[in-house]
Amino acid sequence: MTIRYKLFFIFLLFVLSAPVFSHWHSFSYVAMTTPIDLVLWEEDTGKAEAISQEVFKEFDRIEQQMSRYIETSELSRINRLAFKESVIVSPSLFSVLNSAMNISKLSQGAFDITFASVGYMYDFRKKLKPVNSKIQQNLDLFHYQNVLLDSNTETVKFTKEGVLIDLGGIAKGYAVDQGIAILNNHGVTSAHLSAGGDMRLLGDKRGAPWIIGVKNPRDESKQSIVLPLSNIAVSTSGDYERFFMDEKGERVHHILSPKTGKPVKGMMSVTILANNAITSDGLSTAVFVLGVEDGLALINKLKGVDAILIDESGKVHYSDDLMRPDVH
Ligand code: ADP
Ligand code: MG
Repeated sequence: MTIRYKLFFIFLLFVLSAPVFSHWHSFSYVAMTTPIDLVLWEEDTGKAEAISQEVFKEFDRIEQQMSRYIETSELSRINRLAFKESVIVSPSLFSVLNSAMNISKLSQGAFDITFASVGYMYDFRKKLKPVNSKIQQNLDLFHYQNVLLDSNTETVKFTKEGVLIDLGGIAKGYAVDQGIAILNNHGVTSAHLSAGGDMRLLGDKRGAPWIIGVKNPRDESKQSIVLPLSNIAVSTSGDYERFFMDEKGERVHHILSPKTGKPVKGMMSVTILANNAITSDGLSTAVFVLGVEDGLALINKLKGVDAILIDESGKVHYSDDLMRPDVH
């Protein structure tokens, strides 16, 4: 073989095996009853795998701590005991409870983890909803001021018997932030981490922005809006995530109004952009409950937070910073 041929073969081998040398790695997992997807740039494949394992382990830890479906979780323990006694809470859970309370105050109670006091009577898998009288009986339990947090002792106490809390509106955002912290610790500078409707982008796609779609709420295979983004958290809350149609043909979905104890009307989806995912997750649920007018008023007041709302008629609304300067 001549030297020219040899060089040609070496070249061919390089071209054909180029994808193997790519430093992008993709990993998938399921935790918190949600698909988790991680894409990261890392030159060492073994290191990329080890990092992904560490991220997924953190999701498992959070699920064991905060799931309502796990009897031994700290959350289940709080729900069993916190009316009878002050319950000592571990620091990580206490910080999530604190964030939840802050979002409740910001949204004047629209976001409220005590939704569970009524919400646990719904069963979306079995397509069951509580009768009106049952909702009325429990509605005064559905109020965030029924939860007392004491930051000196890091304890939680419920003021009324029957109060239940659930972190479904915020825990995934917290988990995504924890995952991003792990990636940061390992020196990763470009990554994309999502848990269902909550996602956070670390850096950009090495020179280009990540392209993020907002789903069409009535056809999830289609995107209503596409955004080029980097270094940001994005969460979407939708009435299509968990729902069933009742006997009257009404959509019974998973985001509940503290005023009625029933699924919120008027909105199909809310997407929030923020610096971290616990904020975007909590606020997406809060703005969904607040509706277009109050929801946008809240977002426009907050620095570094933006929103895209799709109302029940399919009309899209943007927060001020996403609008052209000449239209408002
Ligand atoms: P997901 O990412 O699971 O779709 P969202 O961020 O859209 O979650 O929040 C919806 C979840 O929030 C519900 O499944 C429920 O667990 C919880 N939730 C429902 N209503 C409220 C409310 N008013 N305040 C806080 N959390 C709520
Ligand atoms: Mg949310």
